[in-house]
Amino acid sequence: MAKTVVIRAHGGAEALMIEDRPVGEPGPGEVRIRHHAVGLNFIDVYQRSGVYQMQLPQALGMEAAGVIEAVGPGVTHLKAGDRAAYAAQPPGAYTEARVMPAAQVCPLPDGISFEEGAAMMLKGLTVQYLFHRTVPLKAGDTVLFHAAAGGVGLIACQWAKSEGIRLIATAGSDEKCQLALDHGAEAAINYSEGPFAPKVRELTGGRGVDVVMDSVGASTFEGSMESLRPVGMMISFGNASGVVPPVPLAVLAKGSYQLTRPTLFTHIAQHEDCQAMAKMLFEKVTSGAVKIRIDQRFPLDQVAEAHRTLEARATTGATILTL
Ligand code: NDP
Repeated sequence: MAKTVVIRAHGGAEALMIEDRPVGEPGPGEVRIRHHAVGLNFIDVYQRSGVYQMQLPQALGMEAAGVIEAVGPGVTHLKAGDRAAYAAQPPGAYTEARVMPAAQVCPLPDGISFEEGAAMMLKGLTVQYLFHRTVPLKAGDTVLFHAAAGGVGLIACQWAKSEGIRLIATAGSDEKCQLALDHGAEAAINYSEGPFAPKVRELTGGRGVDVVMDSVGASTFEGSMESLRPVGMMISFGNASGVVPPVPLAVLAKGSYQLTRPTLFTHIAQHEDCQAMAKMLFEKVTSGAVKIRIDQRFPLDQVAEAHRTLEARATTGATILTL
């Protein structure tokens, strides 16, 4: 049996319940993993609240690290005793141990701790696909990155710096802006103080940025579009402030803009892609180019408090659940 966080109805943080669930044996293509740490992500909030509808009851959590206890037939890249970490569907990572598909579970290098592994897979693989698989970025390109002091954000700041990409950060307080600057952002705008697009124009000599990476959604979409250079790329990849309403195509004609709405799970769907992306992420971390900053730790049974803290914009860097 494993202590597991489950929702029986969509709702607020009070919908999170802890239950004992049987773990079982891995079938073909599966592993059983015992978690040492679990990552908290904003997608868990969308799934809990119903922004992303799910079949109920449903265990939550998409990211964790631990030790492989058993592998099912056909699994060749992992064996019992291996350290491992993952970002993967289906949800169910908020647990002591689970059986799950092996394809997205990656062997964790010795130089990376379980806590770092749990804090970096979903967020770091997201930065990998944003920077390397969504748009062909090169050194000198300018990116506007919202919520840059968050879990994904602080990895993005460092990743950009390591590749010579000029990242203009936004964040909701001066302290968060400073954190983004400390992690490699070239400039930072406190977007709680007023419209950010005019400041982006100033910082880019009137031209606008090549790419916007916007996970804040409803409250930033318009300003993000106003921050683009002609033929620039708007990457809308989240909805922390609410879902972006339908966009009339004519909006793009104002500057021949490009618009995409990607998700990590398309990019890691194929085992080989996922493992290659993880390899690049692990190299960024083991080389020291990207440091995984864990600013909040909550025991698994305080998961509701962890959700409230994340939703209240009271976190910086990554948040993990400890076991
Ligand atoms: P963060 O640690 O970045 O937390 C979210 C941040 O969003 C907050 O700290 C806050 O920063 C900002 N924010 C702005 N407006 C609001 C609001 N109204 N309510 C709450 N937060 C707000 O979370 P994660 O690192 O887990 O994820 C970052 C974003 O990336 C999320 O939107 C997530 O869904 C998205 N994502 C998308 C993926 C994809 O493939 N599509 C994969 C992974 C993440 P501030 O106070 O500075 O504004």
